Amino acid sequence: MRAIVVTEHGGPEVLHPSEVPAPEPGAGQLAVEVAAAGVNYIDTYHRTGRYPTKPPFTPGVEVAGTVVAVGPGVTGFAAGDLVATADAVGGYAERALVNADRAIAVPAGADLRLAAAALLQGMTAHYLTHSTHPVLPGETVLVHAAAGGMGLLLTQLVKLRGGRVIGTVSTPEKERLAREAGADEVLGYDGFAEAVRDLTGGEGVAAVYDGVGRTTFDGSLAALRRRGVLALYGAASGPVDPVDPMRLAGAGGVYLTRPSLAHYTVTREELAERAGDVLRWVASGELKLHIGRTYPLADARTAHEDLEGRRTTGKLLLIP
Ligand code: NDP
Repeated sequence: MRAIVVTEHGGPEVLHPSEVPAPEPGAGQLAVEVAAAGVNYIDTYHRTGRYPTKPPFTPGVEVAGTVVAVGPGVTGFAAGDLVATADAVGGYAERALVNADRAIAVPAGADLRLAAAALLQGMTAHYLTHSTHPVLPGETVLVHAAAGGMGLLLTQLVKLRGGRVIGTVSTPEKERLAREAGADEVLGYDGFAEAVRDLTGGEGVAAVYDGVGRTTFDGSLAALRRRGVLALYGAASGPVDPVDPMRLAGAGGVYLTRPSLAHYTVTREELAERAGDVLRWVASGELKLHIGRTYPLADARTAHEDLEGRRTTGKLLLIP
């Protein structure tokens, strides 16, 4: 089968289109014929080795597709079923493996591209707005990179909960998309903390959802209200330097957390609940997915170059 293989850690150029044997499902696993694979920032961390990986490997954790084989001991899934997951092994391929206990059933006839686009970032936006800092009606929060895959979903979910969104973006086109998703105010990054204070009567925001990291962290702390929550959920601009806890006191007794989706989909029940909400909201139109671009599988390198080069909006998909 065709797959992208990372032969050594490095830049997007190490994503090699290759021919490899199709994987067979082990105990508890499904083999899935991939209809679409989501491109996520975590794939870039795996590619560079920032998150531990051992080449050669096929990246990609998010897929939707059709079950073509089930491993020993699998119950509840059979060949022909449609599934999606944010926990695939080797998703950038014609066929990927998925542990059955991390697979989400997709109704027959559903659009598999939408399922692939929805799950990982949708569940992340879900836990950030419903669990890490449950947004209350009327409160103001700050969403960085508001036109990104995460940003557009966070913005919509904050609005669904009755909150007010201040977003940051780098271009006028991204500003337009953020406003379309519901952002009430949209800022550039320069001096955003002061602008946030001005927009909140000097008080600051109840929460900052920060997936940008290094370049926004200091401003994010400065933009919080007393006892506000900084949910540092990513590092698109690079990792944040070590933080002296006294800085949290200086910022007003604020809370700092560095959450991951795995922390919020621990049990099968929790996973199924978040995935169920996200897929239902997408089906009902409450949550709109913006697929910024789809790439043929062989163009995984371009997809990573575009994502890391800040040239993308919304969700990116690879189509085998
Ligand atoms: P995005 O679509 O948001 O792309 C990243 C965006 O970050 C860019 O488009 C850009 O928007 C902004 N950005 C600001 N500075 C930089 C920089 N120096 N280099 C690159 N981008 C920059 O990506 P995703 O939605 O896939 O992911 C966003 C973040 O969410 C990532 O950090 C990712 O790791 C994290 N994440 C975390 C999860 C978790 O559970 N913890 C799960 C899913 C994602 P602009 O040009 O407008 O500034």
